[in-house]
Amino acid sequence: MRCDVVAVGTELLLGQIVDTNSSYLGEQLALRGIDSLLQVKVGDNLHRMVAVLRARLEEADAVIVCGGLGPTHDDITREAIAEVMGVRLEEDAEVAERIIAMFESRGRRMPMNNLRQAMVPVGATVIAQTMGTAPGLICPVGGDGTSSDDGDDGGGGGKVIYAVPGVPYELHDMVERAVLPDLARRAGLESVIASRVIKTWGDSESGINERLDDIIAELEGADGPTLAFLASGWDGLKIRLTVRAADAETAEDQLATWERRVVERLGSIVFGCDDETMESVVLGLLRRRGLRLALAESVTGGLVAGRLTDVAGSSDVLVGSIVSYAGSVKRDMLGVPEGPVVSAEAATAMADNVRGVLGADVGLALTGVAGPAEQDGLPPGTLWVGVAIGDEVESHLVRLPGDRLRMRQFSVITALDALRRRLLTIPEPVPPTDR
Ligand code: ATP
Ligand code: MG
Repeated sequence: MRCDVVAVGTELLLGQIVDTNSSYLGEQLALRGIDSLLQVKVGDNLHRMVAVLRARLEEADAVIVCGGLGPTHDDITREAIAEVMGVRLEEDAEVAERIIAMFESRGRRMPMNNLRQAMVPVGATVIAQTMGTAPGLICPVGGDGTSSDDGDDGGGGGKVIYAVPGVPYELHDMVERAVLPDLARRAGLESVIASRVIKTWGDSESGINERLDDIIAELEGADGPTLAFLASGWDGLKIRLTVRAADAETAEDQLATWERRVVERLGSIVFGCDDETMESVVLGLLRRRGLRLALAESVTGGLVAGRLTDVAGSSDVLVGSIVSYAGSVKRDMLGVPEGPVVSAEAATAMADNVRGVLGADVGLALTGVAGPAEQDGLPPGTLWVGVAIGDEVESHLVRLPGDRLRMRQFSVITALDALRRRLLTIPEPVPPTDR
């Protein structure tokens, strides 16, 4: 099965919009084992759209067209598809009603051109719109270039054009709900796809690749999962395992087996999987130990607190943060001794004393050089992290890469990771049992 992609919109050609829809579609098709061998962009021009669609249908079994389904005069995807199918456009009463009702429910007058979106090529099936006003379309194209009127959209060697709106979240919804299932049915693929994302911090992509060398070689031979790396900045370095199997249970079994092998091999650099983030993991470790956290942030200026408070429910663990940016704040509020403020002494004093100032059990401190200039002879990328729990106060020196933005972002995940590793050495209290 081959499904090519056509992205419609003059603004794509002018570089005003980046064509993220095609990359999303490419990824989704690949995950399902459907080849997408050519992806093109075309402007809002009827003749060129018709020519591109005809050419794609010559080579591919299916084409997904994204964009140009809106209400304005330059949205002409419907017209182009009707021409390729060799049919007229007809108003779909149900779609028209839904558009009218949507405007009424919002108490707004409907510009008449909105009804253009209810025009459907004869023989096409509508993908109901859930969010926007434009519905999607599933358009069978017979082997001879006309619509197959036998009502059997799967067979007869016919091809198909799917039209979906350009707005990414509307497109995602329709592709997942209608396009991919329809493609799978046509391709006779009754398999399920499942994936797991393993998240790491503390080694490079090539370093991890090397550690996993033999596992990757085994995967390439086996009919098992595929493994891909995804460097995601301060969200960590991700490893995605994807499997295809006859049913969900088998897929889950396979995933679990390979996940165990990868996690065992990588050890403590793995901090979580799937929806877990470094922030949610650290908050969970603190919560289960009944510990409350205070932050003293210099180089990150509050970014650590920002990330932690993105997590719902963080207030039962995070007490607060002191943005001790100026030397005077470090000294007067946090008791940092005279001398360089990017140092082990400063980091330990900040972590140790912020607990008392804010009333918390655990202190985490960051002081460093974000650049671009060096500071006290230290190069940009220098980070000192302080961690204080009980009587133990430790500090770590880290050298981070990147410009000012990346250095500060890497500082956040690096400091949280230092705290995570420290917390893992403290046993979790065993919950009381009934007996
Ligand atoms: P609407 O019904 O909202 O008008 P449409 O089907 O007419 O949708 P377009 O007018 O082509 O779609 O695009 C609407 C918006 O969707 C664009 O302004 C842009 O923000 C986004 N968009 C369109 N095509 C793409 C694309 N290929 N990649 C990413 N975003 C896109
Ligand atoms: Mg539009």
